[in-house]
Amino acid sequence: MDLPQHVLVVPSPAQGHVKPFMKLAYNLAYHGIKVTFANSEFVEAKILGAMSEADKEQCPIRLVSYSDGLEACPAEERNGARLIASLKEVMPKNLEKLIEQINQSDNKEPITCVIGDLTVGWTLEVARKMGLKQVAVWPAGPASLALALRIPQLIETGVIDENGSTMKNELICLSEEIPVWNSWELTWISPGKPALQKILFDFSLAINQVVKNPIIVLCNTYYELDSSSCAMIPGILPIGPLPAISNLNPCSGSFLSQDSTCLSWLDKQPPNSVIYIAFGSTAMFSQKQFDELALGLELSGHSFLWVVRPNIVTGSSHEHYPDNFLEKIASRGKIVEWAPQEKVLAHSSISCFFSHCGWNSTMEGVSNGVPFLCWPYVWDQFDNKKYICEMWKVGLGLDYDEDGIISRHEIKTKIHNLVTNDGMKMNARKLMEDAKKSVSHGGGSYENFKSLVKYLGA
Ligand code: UDP
Repeated sequence: MDLPQHVLVVPSPAQGHVKPFMKLAYNLAYHGIKVTFANSEFVEAKILGAMSEADKEQCPIRLVSYSDGLEACPAEERNGARLIASLKEVMPKNLEKLIEQINQSDNKEPITCVIGDLTVGWTLEVARKMGLKQVAVWPAGPASLALALRIPQLIETGVIDENGSTMKNELICLSEEIPVWNSWELTWISPGKPALQKILFDFSLAINQVVKNPIIVLCNTYYELDSSSCAMIPGILPIGPLPAISNLNPCSGSFLSQDSTCLSWLDKQPPNSVIYIAFGSTAMFSQKQFDELALGLELSGHSFLWVVRPNIVTGSSHEHYPDNFLEKIASRGKIVEWAPQEKVLAHSSISCFFSHCGWNSTMEGVSNGVPFLCWPYVWDQFDNKKYICEMWKVGLGLDYDEDGIISRHEIKTKIHNLVTNDGMKMNARKLMEDAKKSVSHGGGSYENFKSLVKYLGA
């Protein structure tokens, strides 16, 4: 007799990975698949701490955890090269042990398949070694995966060296329909951090080993959004943007508690009037840049909702706003530490999204038809900005001044240019309609998701 299928979902232990993986897991559970979700112990404590009791009660998946080997490491040092090294050396063995334990205690419904994060390809290697089915998830845009798959050829032709740096500052072009990469925009480039860059580059290179064997690669996109990159990726299955499941909180998986007071504040604002400013889970600012951003928002004269994470200013334990800033903006500005971002973007009072262009934020903005102001700072964010501004024409970038700062005047001007640009608003609405079609009955992502559910054996 065939054993029932039981899927273990394993993201990389970072906010921008855990949250979309959780959404995927919820969608699979909703379609009748038995899902267990494996976090590092550190991440699990964070997401349980941020979930409401109701969210925990309604959670349709089982949460389990395993050690990342960094118990002795202070929270603020769990990043960069140290975390990533542990990801590679300690976590694969611990994941294997976890699967063995689950299968011993749950021998009627052992894990039969691992849905693993392709950025940490060892999740899939562990599954392969243990004879389990494997499905990969690429948690960024398809262009960055197409780039990673081109690395062996770029090394062979001498365009990049074995550390991922370009030899001659060449532009990297995969096809005429895909924006080119400048040498400083490659996904793994980490200015001033050569050890981190080498690790990120090796991770990108290692992806080639995983996709060498036929494997399904799930991606949070829809085909038409970037058909050229999708066409370059063997096994790709675009399933995005995954819908929120009614009754369940689509934002489970957050590391910080969401401050929902911003939703009632938004209810009181006129339609299409509020700028939403959020830079994801890792972007940080110098105090000077933070001040210019605050003063730019003040100068703009617009209402705004600004996510200011704890420790968002480098080297400072709490935020210092410019003198009298909080008093001056009190009647038209709201600041929160962490927002229910998807609900915010879906709110009718939001006029545009001032974003760092992380892939999840990009897809959440696209799904809700909001134009973007783009402020990318690392990794694939430069690439996502090019799609937003040049390919889809739904956003504007900001220019740095000669001191390497984005000035308050630049911010004020670009906000004005964006909110008065009806063409971009129309383009953004069109993208939202396309996204909706794709996940509706008969659409590409809808059909792909159905075939995934069938493959997983519901
Ligand atoms: N997010 C959120 N509340 C916030 C800011 C961000 O829930 O106040 C979520 C956002 O909806 C997205 C994720 O955090 O799903 C950030 O992922 P993204 O890829 O955009 O950026 P990263 O954090 O990986 O840089």
